Amino acid sequence: MGEKPQPVKVLYCGVCSLPPEYCEFGPNFEKCKRWLVINAPQLYPDLLKEANDKDVEKVGERLQSDGITSAGGAEGGATSTAPAGDNPPVG
Ligand SMILES: [Zn+2]
Repeated sequence: MGEKPQPVKVLYCGVCSLPPEYCEFGPNFEKCKRWLVINAPQLYPDLLKEANDKDVEKVGERLQSDGITSAGGAEGGATSTAPAGDNPPVG
């Protein structure tokens, strides 16, 4: 019954090479988000929520696109009239 002291595993962001805690202060936080969701989701639980929301939206779009078929509407096109009324006087 002995607890081994766990070695501190230092994690650095694969995008900005900062510790994940500092990614939100870094210049590439938008890019970091993907990496953080996969590698350090516990630090940014909000990102998981965002990702889940987006996934839900995607699924919804798929369902809709499956059911709706784009039917072409018949629209009356404007007839192009060529101006061919005036003949120059030949003299
Ligand atoms: Zn980062």
